[in-house]
Amino acid sequence: MTNLNQNWDVIVIGGGHAGCEAAAAAARCGASTLLVTHKLDTIGEMSCNPAIGGLAKGHLVREIDALDGLMGRVADAAGIQFRLLNRSKGPAVRGPRAQADRKLYRLAMQGHLAEQRDLEVCQAAIEGLAISSDDRVTGVVTADGTVISAKAVILTTGTFLQGVIHMGERQIPAGRVGEAAAYGLSKTLAKYGFRLGRLKTGTPPRLDGRTIDRQGLDAQKGDNPPTPFSFLTEKITTPQIECHITYTKAETHDIIRANIDRAPMYSGQIASTGPRYCPSIEDKVVRFADKQRHQIFLEPEGLDDHTVYPNGISTSLPEDVQLQLIATIPGLEKAAMVRPGYAIEYDFVDPRELTHSLETKRIKGLYFAGQINGTTGYEEAAAQGLMAGLNAARASQGVEAVLLDRSEAYIGVLIDDLVSKGTTEPYRMFTSRAEYRLRLRADNADQRLSPIGEKSGCLSPFRATTWRVKERMLETARALAAELSATPSQLSKSGLTIPQDGARRSVSDLLSLPNITVASLCGIWPSLSTMDRVIAEQLEIDAQYRHYIERQDVDIAAYRRDEALSLPVDLNYSDIGSLSNEVRQKLEMARPPTLGSAARISGVTPAAIIALLRHVKRADGPRSL
Ligand code: FAD
Repeated sequence: MTNLNQNWDVIVIGGGHAGCEAAAAAARCGASTLLVTHKLDTIGEMSCNPAIGGLAKGHLVREIDALDGLMGRVADAAGIQFRLLNRSKGPAVRGPRAQADRKLYRLAMQGHLAEQRDLEVCQAAIEGLAISSDDRVTGVVTADGTVISAKAVILTTGTFLQGVIHMGERQIPAGRVGEAAAYGLSKTLAKYGFRLGRLKTGTPPRLDGRTIDRQGLDAQKGDNPPTPFSFLTEKITTPQIECHITYTKAETHDIIRANIDRAPMYSGQIASTGPRYCPSIEDKVVRFADKQRHQIFLEPEGLDDHTVYPNGISTSLPEDVQLQLIATIPGLEKAAMVRPGYAIEYDFVDPRELTHSLETKRIKGLYFAGQINGTTGYEEAAAQGLMAGLNAARASQGVEAVLLDRSEAYIGVLIDDLVSKGTTEPYRMFTSRAEYRLRLRADNADQRLSPIGEKSGCLSPFRATTWRVKERMLETARALAAELSATPSQLSKSGLTIPQDGARRSVSDLLSLPNITVASLCGIWPSLSTMDRVIAEQLEIDAQYRHYIERQDVDIAAYRRDEALSLPVDLNYSDIGSLSNEVRQKLEMARPPTLGSAARISGVTPAAIIALLRHVKRADGPRSL
């Protein structure tokens, strides 16, 4: 039985993706931690898409895992289709992704929390915060008025703050379908002067898989063998499934256009901004009017669950219109709708209210993480949760916060973007947001972050030992690769085509050349054949990236020198071919006076800044960068 009278080190409000990581991280650090959430059953619930990872999001999952967070291990236990996205591109932009069995995911997350020492879980709705006269949080207040004391409190309330569901003309107060919204906390935050805003997101209808006709639809299989997320997982053992692909048709678009005045986004019923890269189907039909069809992935929600998630047709059109449009889609002509899609509007807090530790500037000991900070996505939420949990625990123990910078982790990029630029639309991670993305790869997340995790006390003993073993293997392999070398003539006698320039080349040098792998060098140096495959792969990737990373560092140094560079007021941003539409629109609207101010606009990526710098310098005269 949880003792609500004790003074907890850390209380986490919310059992979503941010809350689970926050609670587990705080407890791993040895803080006595209480996770309070609306319903114990929904701990670890995937509110929308039953999938984890993807481009840049997969990097976040690996980073969470490197800090001993739960998401990677849970996704490995629940994943029913794994795919490494961008496989044909370089390792820096490859994104591990897995479709998950929704129920297995939830249960695996709940299992990890139950096993965590120093962590207790309790079901209650929190309606207020206890705050002392010197603006320090001292606890939380439940809906029945019970005060639970704590040295630090983390709010991870997701889409629940003043949540309103929209389904056509219908508006239903809720935090998620079938779950009540939270009101008191928004009021408390407003009372203490926090800047609150409204954002929106949406979800597609769910279909009964038994009523889908898959004949004639393209099947999509996962990778064989699947690549796990977690550095601790050796093999995926969950059965793997395939999903199917279909498309909307002209007829689907006609139905949407004919009913557009009933769509809350277009009737004026919803005024807040939704996720730019996850638009509703009505948004896609209006914005990309010349597009003949839109792709839909039919993703099963579980191994023993017939529900199918039609990824690509998120909508808040009325239920009758949803039924009509589904019936026009090949394979879905007779599909039964299990649950209609909907949009949800909710309060978020301007993340510039936070410091880099995710503690609020107004109230000491109060932290925010997840969707409440204006982000969208499970991975973004989990990453913030972990950092907030770690830092709240450290604050309760009187030690300084751990801050990751932009050159160390996507987590550092995420937090820095949020707390320094704020956001006006749901923020999601992209590889283009990171200026050091060649360094911040999914494959080396443990090398970048596990040492930091170990030093800050958030790695379990098992994780720390596993990491140290790998670290020693890497050191030995790198020393060997630097030590073994040969002349061009020795190498060509062994069948390698190498410029005959007299330069001796080490194994590391050779691995940076195309088509040379550790395996291909074993004939010359048999000692390489004992090298572990994961370690060999790491050496190959490091060698391939060495020169690119050096070049990237030169570009970044050039930007730092030119931060004060003036941008012409009449600059035609359309002349810069490499800018995305999003970045161009934002620059045209803001017309920043200097390069530095352009870089501080939310959504303007480091790559865009380099392109802008090059363009302005070129226009300015013949000086080269
Ligand atoms: P959540 O996962 O929402 O968890 C919040 C938790 O806090 C819940 O357990 C809730 O019960 C609890 N809670 C809230 N208030 C209280 C309180 N007062 N007292 C006690 N407990 C409380 N993401 C995308 O990337 N793409 C999408 O297309 C997308 N669509 C979405 C559609 C819908 C309809 C919804 C609801 C979400 C969608 N998301 C989408 C967002 C995704 O679900 C979130 O990004 C992610 O779940 C955020 O995690 P979180 O931990 O911040 O919050």
